Parts: sequence; structure tokens; C-alpha cells
Amino acid sequence: MSQGIVGQFHALKADSDADLLAMQCGDFYEFFDTDAECVADELDLTTSTKSSGGESYPMAGVPVGELTPYLTALVERGYTVAVADQFEDDNGDFYREITRRVTPGTLLETADSDAQYLAAVVAPNEQTDDESTGPYGLAFADITTGQFLVTEVEDADSAVAECYRFDPVELLPGPAVRTDDEFLSAVTDRSDAEVTLHTTDAFAPGRATYTVDEQFGDETADSIGLDSELAVRAAGAILAYVAETGVGVRQSMTRLQPYTADDHLTLDATTQRNLELVETMQGDSAGSLLATVDHTATSPGRRLLREWLTRPRRDRATLDRRLDSVAAMAAAALRRQRLQETLDGAADLERLASRVASGSAGANELLSIRETLGLLPDIAAELTDGELADSPLPSVLDDIDREAAADLRETLADAIVDDPPQTVTQGELFKRGYHDDLDELIDQHEAAKEWIDGLADRLKQRHGLTHVSVGRNKTDGYYIQVGQSEADAVPDSFSHVKTLKNSKRFVIDELAEREREILRLEEQRGELEYELFEELRESVAAQSALLQDVGRAIAELDVYCSLATHAASNGWCRPTLADPGELAIDAGRHPVVEQTTEFVPNDLQLDRDRGFLLVTGPNMSGKSTYMRQAALITLLAQVGSFVPADAATVGVVDGIYTRVGALDELAQGRSTFMVEMQELSNILHSATDESLVILDEVGRGTATYDGISIAWAATEYIHNRIGCHCLFATHYHELTALASHLDRVGNVHVAVANEDRGDGEEITFLRTVEEGATDRSYGIHVADLAGVPEPVVGRARDVLEKLRSKKAVEAKGSGSSEPTQAVFDLSAGEFRTADGDAREIEPADNGANAADTTTDSDPELESVLTALQTTDIDEMSPVELMAKVQQWQEQLSKTELSEH
Ligand code: ADP
Repeated sequence: MSQGIVGQFHALKADSDADLLAMQCGDFYEFFDTDAECVADELDLTTSTKSSGGESYPMAGVPVGELTPYLTALVERGYTVAVADQFEDDNGDFYREITRRVTPGTLLETADSDAQYLAAVVAPNEQTDDESTGPYGLAFADITTGQFLVTEVEDADSAVAECYRFDPVELLPGPAVRTDDEFLSAVTDRSDAEVTLHTTDAFAPGRATYTVDEQFGDETADSIGLDSELAVRAAGAILAYVAETGVGVRQSMTRLQPYTADDHLTLDATTQRNLELVETMQGDSAGSLLATVDHTATSPGRRLLREWLTRPRRDRATLDRRLDSVAAMAAAALRRQRLQETLDGAADLERLASRVASGSAGANELLSIRETLGLLPDIAAELTDGELADSPLPSVLDDIDREAAADLRETLADAIVDDPPQTVTQGELFKRGYHDDLDELIDQHEAAKEWIDGLADRLKQRHGLTHVSVGRNKTDGYYIQVGQSEADAVPDSFSHVKTLKNSKRFVIDELAEREREILRLEEQRGELEYELFEELRESVAAQSALLQDVGRAIAELDVYCSLATHAASNGWCRPTLADPGELAIDAGRHPVVEQTTEFVPNDLQLDRDRGFLLVTGPNMSGKSTYMRQAALITLLAQVGSFVPADAATVGVVDGIYTRVGALDELAQGRSTFMVEMQELSNILHSATDESLVILDEVGRGTATYDGISIAWAATEYIHNRIGCHCLFATHYHELTALASHLDRVGNVHVAVANEDRGDGEEITFLRTVEEGATDRSYGIHVADLAGVPEPVVGRARDVLEKLRSKKAVEAKGSGSSEPTQAVFDLSAGEFRTADGDAREIEPADNGANAADTTTDSDPELESVLTALQTTDIDEMSPVELMAKVQQWQEQLSKTELSEH
């Protein structure tokens, strides 16, 4: 071993392509050098020092049997860890080889019950011009459960949305994607995905097709029914990568599930976040929709519920089946409770299938499989014996080969003892009757032990001794122990091995012989049992698909129970599904807010005649809540769940799009207004006449007139061109005039009660949504509540009064070269250019013209404001700036402002 142990470590590490290397040295896995320091730091281990090749290195080790939890912790902290095992060659020399590379997406031993997706994303190689950003092929595999999905989407945004939905822990970008920094950062900004640059060969079409067919059967790649080969390339790359890391879960990757966006509701990444489906905007899972409606009894159930909530559907057949199932469960309280108690005892079969396939499952895990399969008859009876029989629920079990499940259960029941040891190499795993040779060994072993058990009595009789016992320990093996008083009276055939305080230990030839026999039998038994166990485990692995089917059915039943439980205990109703273009909610509530608040229910009616509502009302009055509840009720209906309302008719939509205040983006240092406009742009491009759009303030991130103009134009576009359902909360009261100009636009407002108490108005939030626009803005009231000094609040009231008394406000150009551009005519609800031409919107019908609506505001003030806005500070010296300020002050002294 000329290079020394640390030299060997470094050589293996260089080959490993991993952040850290754990190298087996006898009974320990050791980390050396900087790896040792890093691991010690992360996991609170102590380091020792190792001399190697004349130098000293830090070293940190963990016992061989305890590597898994350390590996898991390291990988969960974002490291990839290679494992080098020690082998012995024919000459008895040791050598070491890397056997596994553990990465976030290939960590089998995760303690987290959430899905753990490894994603691959492929775009066409020739994609060079930035106009064409698609299509994209995507594959998502969870090696811990064998879930493997592939799809194709048309553009980068949709690919990011899919990634966000699956929330992968590791991402393998294909050759054209790995250089697309914008795409990669869009994914990594919104998830914790580790990006791994796996060899581009794995993504090559020919090789990927071969790998996919080899795994899932001939012609799989050709028959997945997607348009291009991109999805196959993504799937092939994942398979190749998983194989290369050595995790060995091939057998549990039983099927490839292609899916298309058509079956699902489009939920872009922003909307998934805005609606707080699985975590709140602050990143907490408590307070999310999932946490609120989750009453599942099993981890697979919880995973499936999350999948359903983040991937609502559009196909009525699936939705009707789910709703019928929830309805049946909701009506059968007792049966549901019994079923939940039964499911509570179910193990995570999908995860167990992967552990069995990888060879890491022990006897206890096979027992869990046996027990869970044993629940099937009880579950089936609950579904078929009573009031659930006529619902679609019994069909949940249809995919399961029940006979095979019963056989497997029986095989396991006949094989494994009820309380098996943790290790699988030392025997005592199997029941008698499982294997003849093993029975024979056990008989011999027991006979030998019986002989030993009877030895003490025989010795007493034969030699007239009273204080004799036979024992066994690690150092002495079997021995005969004789009390001190009789120790000198033992026959010569007893040879002395040890003297203790009150006794002496001896052995006799027959005992030594039995001991050898017992050791030989134990060794043989251990070897045979391990062999049998591996055979059994492999035969179970061959049934991975069966285990996954049962696991999936249990998860589905668990989700139905959970949805029904929530519906029953919160007074939710079954929604009536309808064609797009209709949404009628009686006494709707927000599913999360209603948990913690005395909630005031509200109605909502959208149809083909009135599909666009402008929602006004003071800050904090409940606008967002009202709009989100509409989105969540629609979403829940399309999950197949009951909804928080007294009655609801939900037209099935093709997508939900939202844009709400982007506080967190601000925190990330992105321009809020840019993000706002990107989100708006995405909505205007993507929504169709069958979508639901929620806009919570648009245009706030820029100057008022910019903002109104954008909001105005977006409203027209959505109304005239897209024609979808839209709820738009705005603080621009000017917009409410649109209702009289655009057919399908209506106004609603969240009501408040005002009470004049003499020293100012008291506002009570009523939380009820009423027809019509609010007649006033409450911004000043909020400023007052927030403690803005009285002179400012008072002055603001005066200014507002003044503005109100005039009929129009002016929209200013952004530079001094652009004077007054347009006039917003409140009474006509339209913009007019300064020379009086109405701009590209329907002519006003009340005869107002620009001339009478031009503001008479102070020209001095206007000119100061314009100059202030356009002055480029960077271009001026401080002295020049001071001169300017002085000039403005002089100008202002001539205006009415100076009177206050
Ligand atoms: P806005 O969008 O008008 O600023 P929000 O929708 O954010 O107001 O609501 C403000 C607060 O009012 C929320 O935190 C919520 O708890 C409460 N709220 C909103 N709607 C209702 C309601 N219908 N019933 C009871 N409380 C409500």
C-alpha cells in the first residue's frame, strides 16, 4: 500500500465526482483531511489524527453499521457523498472501490415522508435563437417510491411551472438546458433543487430510448404517446444516472407514466405560491391549504393529497368519480372512522418496495409488508359490505391482483418469525417448516443446545455436585461453573479455565466438542438463512408492482377519508361541476381563513354575461380573501373535493392565474414592478376564455397614471380579447367607471360601516361583498390608523376634497419633452388626449368632452413637479443642484401650497 491510506482516499475522491468520500477501513467508514473537518463540523463528530505517507491528517469515522443516518444527514444538508467499500482479493489483500454515490435525488434512506423527486429537463439541442423556447421534455422520478412521470410542455414557463409543482430535490439539465442560466435560476430560486451536470451522453436520443426500453419493456419509448422524443431523453437520462449512483432500485421502477397538460388545470409557479397550496408565502407548511385539509393517516396518503392539490384536473370523468367517492365517505361516518383506523396500521408500501428492490430491507420490513397486505381483506370488506358498495370506492382496489397479494402475504407469514433480529446475517429469521435443510440445521442446533441445557443436571447426578451451572460468554465460550466449596472435588476430566471470587470455571472435552458443533451449526444457519432471506427478498422485489398498486390504493382511500373528514367537520358542500363560463357560490368561505376567524361568508356569481368583477374596498377589508376563496373553491372542486360553501356550481376551468402583491420578490431584491409586469404578461399570454384570472392590484409599482393606464388597458384586453372570468381588486377608483363601458364588467365592493364620532370617523369592517363600487377611498383613514401625524392626514383630506371637486385628473408625460398627454375623464370613464380625442375605447355616451375636464391645477406647481421628476441628479454638481432647489422653492412660494 505504497501511497498510504490518505493517498488512496484522495485518489478515490478525485474519481468520485462527489463532495465527500466515506471510505471503509475495516469496521469503520472514515473521512480524511478536509472531508473529515467538514463532516465533523456538520455532524458534531470529533476528529482524530492519522499519520499517512509521513504526514498527519484529520480523520473522522463512523461504525460501518451506522453509516446510513450520517449519510442521510449529510445529503440532506446538500452534500453528495461517495461511499467506497473495502473488498478482499484472492490473495487476501484489501482494496477499495466506490460502490455508491448518494445525492439528494438518489437518497433512499430519507426520513422525510414527502416525495423526493429527481428531475430531468431536455430542450431541443439546436435551440439557439431566443424566440423559440420550447418544447421541453420533462421526467420526474421518485426513487423512494418508484413513481416515474414524463411529459412534454410547450415552453420554458410551463417547464418551470412543472418543476415547481414537483419541487424536485435534484435537477439534471439536458445539454441545451444546462447553459440556460435563466431557466436554471428560475427553478432553483423557487425550489431547493441541486443542479447536477450529468454526462450529456445519457441524454442522447438513441441511448435514452435503449435505456427506457430496457427498463420498462420493448417499445415503451415509442408508445408513450407524446409528440417528440424529448420526454424519452429526459427519462433515459434519469435511469442512467440512477444506475450510475449504484442505489440499485431498478426493480422498483416498474412503470413509466406519461401525462399531458390537457388533463390538468394549468397552475403557473406564481399561482401555486400565491394560493399557498403546500406552503405559505413565508415558506411555512402550517397555514397552507394542504396542512388545513390534511387528515390522512399514512405518509403515502399525505403524498397523494399533496399531488392532488398541486395538480387539479380538468377531465370530468375523473372528477365525478372522486366527488362520488368523497360524498360516499362523507355520508358514512362510522365506516370511514373504522377504515381510517385500519389504514393507520398500514406501512408505506411504495417506499418499502424500493428498499426491498435495493436490497436494504431487513426482516422487519418484510414483516411490515406482510402486515399491510394482511389489512386488504378488512379494507375490501368495509368497501363492499355496506353503504359504500354502490360508490366508486370499491373500484379503488380493482388494479390490485388480490390473489397475488394474499399469496405474498402467506409466503411472508410462513417465512419470517414474529420478532426477527435487526441483522439478517446471523440467523433466527425464519420459521420452522420454511426450508428442509434449515429445519435440519435447527434440529441439530437445538439438540446440541438441549444437551448443554441438561449438562448441569447430569454433572450433579454423576459427580454428586450441588453448585453447578453451565454458561456461555464471549471470551470463554461455554464453561462449567462450580461453587468454591466443591471446586476441588471435580473429576480430573475437568480442566480449569478461570477462578472467580466464589467459583471456578472448567471445561470438559464433550462440552468443547458440542461448542464446536454449535458454532459450526450457527455459522451454517446464519449463512443459509441469509441466502434464503436474499432469495425471499428478491422474490418480493419481483412483486414491486403489486406492492405499489396496494400502496397506491391505500393512499387513495386515505385521501378520500381525509377529504370527507374535512368536509364533514367543516360543513363543506359537494360542488356541482358545470361547463366553463359559470361560477356560482352561495355563502362561500376561504378554506384556511375560516379555520381561525369568525368568517363572514359571501356569494359570488360569474357567468357569460357578467364574468369580470372589479372589487373595491378599503385596505384590509377582505378583497384578497374574497378573490382567493373563489380561486380555491374552483381549485378544490377540480381536485374532486367538497368546497367551503353552502352551495357551489363550478364551471371547470383550464387554468387559474393569479397576480398578487409581490412582497417576497421585493425581499429578494428584484424590482417589484418588473415582476408585476412579468406576471401580468404571462397571464395575458396564457389565459384563455376558459380560465379564471385573479388580479390583486395591478400597476401599483409605478406612478399613478402609469398604473391606471396599465390596469385600464389590461382590463380591456382581458374583457375584449381573452373573455375569461376575472376578479380584479383595485384601489384605482377610476377603473370602476369601466363597468358602464364594458358589457361583462361589474363592480362589487367589500362593505364597511362608517360612524362619525365627532373626533373623526370610525370604520368597521363588515366583510360582506355588495354590488357596486365603493364610493370613496379609505387610504387616508388607513394613514390615520397607522399614526401618520394629524397635519398630514388633515391636509390629505383637503387635497382629496379638492381633487374630487374637479372632474378630471391629468396624466403627465414622463419627460419635459412630453407635456400633458392625456386626461382621465372620471365622468366618462375614459382617457382623452390633451386635444380632446378619445383614445381607442368606446366613445363616451354622456357627452363629456376634454375641454371641460382639463384640470385647472397650478401651472407653477406642475412645472416644479415635472422638473423634479426629470432632473438627473447624476449629471449635476451639488452646487448646480442647490441652485435648482432654490429655484423650485421660489416657484413654489408663488403657489397655493405656500398658504399652508
Ligand atoms: P384586503 O385584500 O382588502 O386588504 P384581506 O383580504 O387581506 O384584505 O383581508 C384582511 C383580513 O381580514 C384577513 O386577514 C382576514 O383574516 C380578514 N377577513 C377577510 N375576509 C374575511 C371574511 N369574509 N370574514 C372574516 N374575516 C375576513
